[in-house]
Amino acid sequence: MLDPAQGIHAPNSDPAALAEHIRPLIAGNWKMHGMAPQLSEIEAVAASVKATPPPADVLICLPATLITRAVQTAAGRFAIGGENCSAQISGSFTGDLSAEMLKDAGARAVIVGHSERRQYHGETDAIVAAKAKAARRAGLLAIICIGETNAQRLAGKALSVCAEQIAGSVPDGMTASGTAIGYEPLWAIGSGHMPTPEQIIEMHTHIRQCLTHCLGAEGKKLRILYGGSVKSSNARAILALPEVGGVLVGGASLKAADFLAICGATPVSA
Ligand code: PEP
Repeated sequence: MLDPAQGIHAPNSDPAALAEHIRPLIAGNWKMHGMAPQLSEIEAVAASVKATPPPADVLICLPATLITRAVQTAAGRFAIGGENCSAQISGSFTGDLSAEMLKDAGARAVIVGHSERRQYHGETDAIVAAKAKAARRAGLLAIICIGETNAQRLAGKALSVCAEQIAGSVPDGMTASGTAIGYEPLWAIGSGHMPTPEQIIEMHTHIRQCLTHCLGAEGKKLRILYGGSVKSSNARAILALPEVGGVLVGGASLKAADFLAICGATPVSA
């Protein structure tokens, strides 16, 4: 569970130990799903996390309309986040929500640069970086999403595309406690197709190198989540990879039973 006193990490003040053992983050993304009746799923996750705390931080990112009620329902058992924010603090930006507003509603994190935002809303790396800075300004964990298309992977460009997205979307000065990367190959999102463990290891190792290059010591510690068709049936194998610092879960986060099974697949040693 997210510890409010410790940011996103489990209480652990020893940086060397932290580098070896980054506490995983299991993050859900409900996308544009969910109304009042679905708060029962939040209630069920909270009850289970209370009864059997998983060896991971737990977060569910929700449509903004549900955040305040979900925060009350979750009762501090796990964290609630937003799915997007504006880069601005306030002003004449009709329909937008600032990171500060999400924080005010009780959110602890926000996803920025999800591929659906990049694809359907024209969000460039520069826009994503501005949103990540806004999350930092508001004290929210920024989950910065990157990932290649199928065509880019087939063309042998997956690594270079992700390196470019990191260089453009991860602002200088981001910290391990305030940032996570969501590696989500676009061809794996909602498709049931998964990269092989070797492909995940190769990409996460590459992302780690890129982060260390741009953020130094902080880049060695921040969590790199895998996202794309994660389900209870494959979560254990993904979370067992030492390069993987957690998962970002779309469809399988909508039902408490499915999401809890993924939380329960976190290796106990993690
Ligand atoms: C997502 O969109 O962030 C995602 C990972 O979706 P899914 O798990 O449904 O593939």
